[in-house]
Formats: sequence, structure tokens, C-alpha cells
Amino acid sequence: MVFYGLRKFARELGLEIQSGVAYGIYERYAVSMWEGNGYKAFNISAKFEDDLCKKMEMELMELEANYRRVAYIRFIEGVLEARFVDNPGTMKQFRNCFFNVLSVLDEYEIPDADICPKCGLPMYGQGVWSLFKLYGRKSCLYTHEHCAAAMEREVNRQIEWDRQHPMSKEEFIESMMEIHGDESLEELELALLFWLPHMNF
Ligand SMILES: [Zn+2]
Repeated sequence: MVFYGLRKFARELGLEIQSGVAYGIYERYAVSMWEGNGYKAFNISAKFEDDLCKKMEMELMELEANYRRVAYIRFIEGVLEARFVDNPGTMKQFRNCFFNVLSVLDEYEIPDADICPKCGLPMYGQGVWSLFKLYGRKSCLYTHEHCAAAMEREVNRQIEWDRQHPMSKEEFIESMMEIHGDESLEELELALLFWLPHMNF
């Protein structure tokens, strides 16, 4: 959904609002914003290279610390997502943080929105926006039409696989520990905090 405060901000940026998501190209970035049960979020999709993400992550973590309402600012599956706990006053932090994140990105050589985040080739203005939903999480991407179709097949395969291989809560936590085992306990906690509400155990 996109309610009043977020809607107003999205309009200021010149974003379109459709299917409960605001999206568009702002400056040179493909951005989208939405809100849900108790949170607001924005994401930026671009062709982010892994080593660049690692470098930016340190700066983004410092940013997180400046905003009490920020739950996290992270690269998830190659998309930069910032999520905020929704309370009175969140919108102000959301705005400020959005511009701060863009100025961090500006310091690095991020390909502009016309470069497809999936295949890395230019789209010559022919990109399409698509909304993916996996584990109840929305992700809005600006890509080639055929790249979006390939991603949709991938997502559907994943959903089908999950349906056929149901996991208990314990198994899920165990698998998260495997994924985040070499990182800090804090990372694991953050990951669980993020994923657990979206799982159907
Ligand atoms: Zn592509």
C-alpha cells in the first residue's frame, strides 16, 4: 500500500503509483517504495557488483545507526532495500534516509537505471517494472521484459519447490544458521527477525 505520507513523497519524486507500490526513475536510479503491516520500505534496483556492495555496506551500516526507525539497509538478492519500523515520525526519517542513501550511491560508480540489473545490458529506455512477491516480501525491479519473464519463472519454481518441501520452524532456523554461521550472531538475529514473520509454519 502507499498511504498519504508516502504517497506525497513519491509524488514529489515524480514516481508513479500502481498496485500498491510507488516506482519510477529518480535522478539516475530505479526506485520503488511501499508500506505494509507496521513498516515502510524503499528499494533501489541497479546492476550492483558484489565487491561494490561489500564496500557500500559499511557506509550503509553507519547510516542505519543514525536512524532509529530503520530496521535495516541491506542488499537482498542484489537489490538495495531499506526498511523502517512505522511509527509517528517515521516518514521524516524515511525521507532523510532516502536522500542519504542516494548520496552514498553517488560516491560509487553505480550503473544508471537503464542498465538491466539482471543481465547488465542497456535497455535503451525499454525497461519494464515488475513486482515480485516471495515469502510475502515485495521486490520491485526495472529490467528487460525477457529478463523479468525469466525471473518470474525462477520465482515460481522456488514457490513450487517450497510448497513441495515444507520446513518446520526448527529446520528453518537451522538452515539460517548454516547460511549466517560465519557471520556474527547479530546478523543471524537480524535475518531471523526479517524472515520469520513471512514464513508459514
Ligand atoms: Zn536484462
